[in-house]
Amino acid sequence: MAGVLVFCETKDGKLKKISREALSIGRKLAEQAGGDLAAMANDAAVAEEAGKYGAKKLYAAKLDAYTTEAYAAALAETIGQAQPSIVLLGGSSNGRDLAPRVAARLGVGVASDVDRLEWSGGKLVARRPVYSGKAFATVEITASPAVVTTRPNAFPAEEAGGGAADVAEVAAPGVQAKATLVETKVPEAGELSIAEADIIVSGGRGLKEAANFSYIRDLAHAIGGAVGASRATVDAGWIDHQHQVGQTGRVVSPNLYIAAGVSGAIQHLAGMSSSKHIVAINKDPEAPIFRVADLGVVGDLFQILPELTEEVKKAKAHH
Ligand SMILES: Cc1cc2nc3c(=O)[nH]c(=O)nc-3n(C[C@H](O)[C@H](O)[C@H](O)COP(=O)(O)OP(=O)(O)OC[C@H]3O[C@@H](n4cnc5c(N)ncnc54)[C@H](O)[C@@H]3O)c2cc1C
Repeated sequence: MAGVLVFCETKDGKLKKISREALSIGRKLAEQAGGDLAAMANDAAVAEEAGKYGAKKLYAAKLDAYTTEAYAAALAETIGQAQPSIVLLGGSSNGRDLAPRVAARLGVGVASDVDRLEWSGGKLVARRPVYSGKAFATVEITASPAVVTTRPNAFPAEEAGGGAADVAEVAAPGVQAKATLVETKVPEAGELSIAEADIIVSGGRGLKEAANFSYIRDLAHAIGGAVGASRATVDAGWIDHQHQVGQTGRVVSPNLYIAAGVSGAIQHLAGMSSSKHIVAINKDPEAPIFRVADLGVVGDLFQILPELTEEVKKAKAHH
């Protein structure tokens, strides 16, 4: 029997999308391995939702806002109680911070940023994009538990329709944190994070100046997507770094990625080439972005984006 434990992040009494994704693949692995799926979260209110995604048990730890030390201690405590063979964490900033720390405590390794997982021959087999997405490494995890972070949007979040998970309280060990949370800055209301968005509209230096990001925002708003950006625009101070896609920004794989005025430098492609559908708008037919695009539009973004935004608004109005 090989059980799976998923570390879940919550917001306002709900599971974050990345955690629903991790639970969904966790459930499949538990089925393959013949074990149960359990979740750990800082809020017992998510027991019902975790149950819908297949968790039989929810380990609820009394924890406030994320701090590395407190969460690492509580997760290690939960692993001690649950004795899972597999520990999954969604690859958010927190998940990527927590996984190696907990793995080090347990003396095991981590497979990070994984986009495929299966249980085969009594072992967990994971696929990880490497060299900025130019190749894939398939790794077999021999240590127990196997600790893995999942790539956002790589695994679909699918409900299984189970009843509420049984709640078990976990004592959060008192820890002397070396860092304290001073302030949380929330992005502007209504602004989606590129980390979890299904659709991303990204702008590059072709926008010419900061104010012209309005072309990108208008389309993103109309289509229900998040705003992405190339590093050139972030370095120029046109937009905040949290929007940057690429090797030194976020790695994203939305359903639809629209890039306008982005040349498609290798460091940008590293962050978005695994998107399901890619649309590129660029006035240079030789721009490298067209090599990864499913649909390429050669033309002036200042003409195309407003027209596209209008068409999207019209199409949405008819539905
Ligand atoms: C170590 C390292 C890490 C890096 N990390 C990242 C990263 O994480 N993310 C990232 O994005 N970059 C990264 N870069 C930078 C990268 O190499 C490129 O410089 C950058 O991606 C270019 O941004 P851009 O496409 O917006 O600009 P440009 O390369 O200047 O491209 C602008 C494009 O806009 C087009 N254009 C101009 N006007 C119009 C118009 N009116 N209509 C339509 N198209 C138009 C042009 O034809 C051109 O293709 C990194 C570089 C290094 C060295």
